[in-house]
Amino acid sequence: MKREASYGSVPAAPESHPETRKLRRGPPITLTCECGERRELRYGERWQCERCGRIWNTNRIPIEQYAAVRAIQLRLRWMMIGLCVLALACVIFFIAIGRWVGGVLLVAICASAWRMYIWPRQKRRYLDAVDDLPRWEIEPD
Ligand SMILES: [Zn+2]
Repeated sequence: MKREASYGSVPAAPESHPETRKLRRGPPITLTCECGERRELRYGERWQCERCGRIWNTNRIPIEQYAAVRAIQLRLRWMMIGLCVLALACVIFFIAIGRWVGGVLLVAICASAWRMYIWPRQKRRYLDAVDDLPRWEIEPD
């Protein structure tokens, strides 16, 4: 018996790709139908256009390319979490040394300085990165 007998007829099923599940929580994909109808979809979602009936499948987007989009989003999220942890650690440190008022003040000052000077630059960089993303042309199902 040859096990690889059916090899070749196996459909490329991105559905079973282990990454597909994770990518479903990624940023929404704006799909514009050939008739002009637009819809925001998650990776892996299918959508039938109400106006013309075409069926679109976001699984047709190359997974590596969409994963790159998700990576940008995750990088920003982790940076935010990191900053929050850092701020919290500062507060805890100042509470531990008995100067919690100073700690809260310091964190508040740092947070507003970050918000005013650093965040706008980071946001611009993030938006630029998103702008550079590919626009995919997929075929209806
Ligand atoms: Zn349509």
